[in-house]
Amino acid sequence: MVKTCNCCRGHSGDYDEAKLRRCAGCQKVYYCSTSCQKEDWVYHIFHCKPSRPINTADYLARAVFENLLPEHPQTCDDYGFSRVFTAEEKSKLLGLYIGLIKVIKIPPKTIHGWRIRGALVDEIKATFYKIPERTRGGYFPWFLQNEHIIALAGQPLSEDMMHNYADEMMRSWPLSIANLARKKIVIFCMPFSYPSGAHTRISTSGLTSDSHRADHRKKNRYCVLNTSD
Ligand SMILES: [Zn+2]
Ligand SMILES: [Zn+2]
Repeated sequence: MVKTCNCCRGHSGDYDEAKLRRCAGCQKVYYCSTSCQKEDWVYHIFHCKPSRPINTADYLARAVFENLLPEHPQTCDDYGFSRVFTAEEKSKLLGLYIGLIKVIKIPPKTIHGWRIRGALVDEIKATFYKIPERTRGGYFPWFLQNEHIIALAGQPLSEDMMHNYADEMMRSWPLSIANLARKKIVIFCMPFSYPSGAHTRISTSGLTSDSHRADHRKKNRYCVLNTSD
């Protein structure tokens, strides 16, 4: 492997190969500066030997910097992504966390602490209220109207929400209608959409799936739930 900075790959303005330092955690990668090391940590923590266990706030932070919805199921449960059903709402929720982690620069460790204390909603509010209103962006006002998403994060979805979710999925994937006719419910089972395991409990249109095995094809992100005859 070429010896270069694991963050800027030699492209930072004052890059100096002579200044490369090995990561003390894993001894496997190099950084040209502490700022490069800091910047890369959100990704590198997953490949290094961190001094603390990786938690779901770390997964959240990585998703934020990649600008992608988190896929890690527990992270989706912990941070509310399992409680929003539409792509639009999911991206608003991600937008809120982008503001918090990338713009305001709250470290994942801190966010993890808030969640463990059950103070995620209050701390998010306190953090945004500390900055001028014009710099808060559009996702914070959305959050104020939807704070239950985060307040109830991690709790099982109610029956109603499950039904709404199933309906949403049905609408968004016409193929599932065809499969319904064949007595199969095919649903998108994006790992970030359901509280872990909840998809096996879904019932819709009188077709129960409780006793059926979900063929959880993670790779394609959908499940086939065979319905009872
Ligand atoms: Zn660098
Ligand atoms: Zn390392």
